[in-house]
Amino acid sequence: MTRIFVAGHRGMVGSAILRALEKRRADGQPITLLTRDRAQLDLSDQRQVGAFLREAQPDVVILAAAKVGGIHANATYPAQFLQQNLAIATTVIHAAHQAGVQRILQLGSSCIYPRDTHQPIAEHQLLTGPLEPTNEAYAIAKIAAIKLCESYNREYGRDYRSLMPCNLYGPGDNFHPDNAHVMPALMLRCHEARIRQDPQLTVWGTGLPRREFLHVDDLARAALFVLDLPVSAYRAHVQPTVSHVNVGSGRDITIHDLAHMIADVTGYKGAIRMDPSRPDGTMRKLLDISRITAMGWKPRISLQDGLADTYRWFTDNHALIR
Ligand code: GDP
Repeated sequence: MTRIFVAGHRGMVGSAILRALEKRRADGQPITLLTRDRAQLDLSDQRQVGAFLREAQPDVVILAAAKVGGIHANATYPAQFLQQNLAIATTVIHAAHQAGVQRILQLGSSCIYPRDTHQPIAEHQLLTGPLEPTNEAYAIAKIAAIKLCESYNREYGRDYRSLMPCNLYGPGDNFHPDNAHVMPALMLRCHEARIRQDPQLTVWGTGLPRREFLHVDDLARAALFVLDLPVSAYRAHVQPTVSHVNVGSGRDITIHDLAHMIADVTGYKGAIRMDPSRPDGTMRKLLDISRITAMGWKPRISLQDGLADTYRWFTDNHALIR
């Protein structure tokens, strides 16, 4: 029986991973799933998390808990993004080590890479240049988490792995008008504009930046895939000081084209206007996914299908979201 603690199981990523694990359990795999709500366990409290992990004795910790948000939220609350994400990472990783947990999978983001760097971005390009200022706080916390994992591996022989996804989307996303990531923000805006029959809506920035999107169910599959690899297979593809693994769809799209795809999916027929007074953020951050594809994983859900699936979820859950 494998005991797995999913930290952050209420978030978009954690809940997708939990769904994938529940399916495995339903298919007969011997898994015990451990979860704790925010009210039950403060993931930035060393004493609480230490006591919980000593008692629960998981074999594996999946660290999907984070304070996340779009370009506006990141730029507006840098102290919260840096402090909370650092605190969660140091607390959970250290407590897991102290409780004797041998394997962790830690999730981050493609914003860890330098702003101006060769595309597609391979893992070894980490820490080769300055970061994009609009998400530097989050990026620093996630880089620290990768280095923390590598350090426990080096110093204590742990097997702590890090997965760095491109922009994620899907069921369970945050559809806040200002603080959300671009995909849910534009889905909400198109949906509301269609219902109000607005003649036009606004998309932030020039529309020229490119983003790579991965459906969260593809990410969940990737997370379990990487976690399942035996240590020798995993280590054959990584280096001790470049131990993280990129995951993405392998394709990017301009914000302009994304806005038009979302308009189609939601049935919005009005005009789409760009607002260049809003920040573009980094112009491109396409991940090189050859490491994970060499391991044997590949994406399955097309952007078209994934957007339709997300819009179905959104319309089913809209009342709950608002
Ligand atoms: P990023 O990938 O870390 O920059 O985060 P986002 O998911 O917030 O994507 C930001 C990109 O989408 C930038 O180029 C924004 O200018 C653009 N964008 C266009 N409209 C919106 C919007 O309504 N919300 C957000 N978050 N971004 C938008």
